[in-house]
Amino acid sequence: MNLRQPNASTATGTFNRSRNVVPMSGICVECLDGCKGGCEAWLASFRGREVLYPGPFGEITAGASKNYPVDYSHLNIQGYAVGAKGLPDEVTSGPDTAIFPAADTETEYGWTEKVRMRVPIFTGALGSTDIARKNWEHFAIGAAIAGITLVCGENVCGIDPQLELDGNGKVKNSPEMDRRIETYRRFHEGYGEILVQMNVEDTRFGVAEYVLNKHKLETIELKWGQGAKCIGGEIKVRELERALELKKRGYIVTPDPTIPEVQKAFKEGEIKEFERHSRLGFVDKEGFLKEVERLRKLGFKRITLKTGAYSAAELAMALRYGAEAQLDLLTIDGAPGGTGMSPWPMMNEWGIPSFYLHSLAYQFCEKLAKQKIRVPDLALAGGFSGEDGVFKAIAMGSPYVKAVCMGRALMIPGMVGKNIESWLGNGGLPKTVAKYGHSVEEIFVSYEELKAKYNSDMKNIPLGAMGIYTFCQKIRVGLQQLMAGSRNFKLSTISRRDLMSLTEEAARISDIPYVMDAYRGEVEQILAGRDLYCSSVGLKTRDVVASS
Ligand code: SF4
Repeated sequence: MNLRQPNASTATGTFNRSRNVVPMSGICVECLDGCKGGCEAWLASFRGREVLYPGPFGEITAGASKNYPVDYSHLNIQGYAVGAKGLPDEVTSGPDTAIFPAADTETEYGWTEKVRMRVPIFTGALGSTDIARKNWEHFAIGAAIAGITLVCGENVCGIDPQLELDGNGKVKNSPEMDRRIETYRRFHEGYGEILVQMNVEDTRFGVAEYVLNKHKLETIELKWGQGAKCIGGEIKVRELERALELKKRGYIVTPDPTIPEVQKAFKEGEIKEFERHSRLGFVDKEGFLKEVERLRKLGFKRITLKTGAYSAAELAMALRYGAEAQLDLLTIDGAPGGTGMSPWPMMNEWGIPSFYLHSLAYQFCEKLAKQKIRVPDLALAGGFSGEDGVFKAIAMGSPYVKAVCMGRALMIPGMVGKNIESWLGNGGLPKTVAKYGHSVEEIFVSYEELKAKYNSDMKNIPLGAMGIYTFCQKIRVGLQQLMAGSRNFKLSTISRRDLMSLTEEAARISDIPYVMDAYRGEVEQILAGRDLYCSSVGLKTRDVVASS
């Protein structure tokens, strides 16, 4: 079975001329000399490296299209007819108290100084891509009013057109970074936080010192990688002067804008854009521990790390070094990531897919725990978009996983809300929205709730932020339903026993029991006549039964 047909995708604006395509190569069964378009090989014949990237840049986010052999859809959630784990008095709970709105979706992360979130999700790293910059107000205020953490991605200072550096090449003033932090803080109300990510260039620019000294930021995130790609962050630049400036600031800019022939080609329109790339990191234990110590000494309360879909060895490094460094959160991002700009072939073809990577992470955590080593709080990432995924991730990685990092799915409501705002302004409301009404009050189900809370401040909440809040409410309620159905009224009571593998392959990878094997011990006892869950035999909860 072929897992992905390459050489043509809407992400690169390419297609096959023929209906019949060779599965492995993606080349038309009969490739015509004279074809007018256009697969990736066809387009790359004259646009070359441009075809590496999904587009149009700044207007889309892209997610890989490879169909991995096993993913989270191979798990289902168990439902039970008895139990109410996590309620104050589990044993005496009944239909009147064990109601689904009573399920508590609040979570927290941190080694000692905890951060609480109202829902166990937070944003992917929104960094220097145009899509993050353009939508920031919506994303930031939305995350703040939803009570979730917002991750400001790498290179924000580095690409700030108004960046001022001091004599040592360190950030003296970055209005863009200031805007990002201040926007979130305007509506922050004690749940979630804004944290800033640092890569090689950010470290060189002294971003940590800047956000700490100027903004008293409490958390900084080190970045090893992400699920979308195994090279650093990239953006496209469409002005020569800007490309030259970024090159001067130390970035890798391709093609090299300082070369006269490149400048001529750009001016004549042959080259339409430049790419700005970050550098590859080089991780070693001593250097990592020293950097964490340096950041703590600077004054950060929390240090977090994001690692990508690297090999199992790098995952082991992240967990072991992270435990020694007493990290406050470790985000493990599996392939395929979603992105504002990553090379399309790399997105599809590199890295350990989420289900496998997260299964390995659990195995490694257990090994560390057996050595009596405390594992940092974990967040899982890599393709989650709904509450079912959140439940499964928390259950799969229980008790280590505290939250899910959601990339593209949390950006959508920000963009949708923003667009509704502009459609309402220009009279271009599409039918898909207009069927709910023609005013903000009619369109957004959470409008009145927010109005009651924010009153006159409502005018400062953009509709993209309302979109994120509304989306988070859907995740929260959907999660409450799944929690209640699996009789978990707190996130901390969700366990691996609340999942089943639908395929034997998924069971082998994850060690989550195959559907036909789950609860077999209990089944045999019940069939033999034992009333396992009845309080009269003293075994009142499913976990007591499991351990008996
Ligand atoms: S060049 Fe044209 S005919 Fe040949 S594989 Fe590509 S789309 Fe098909």
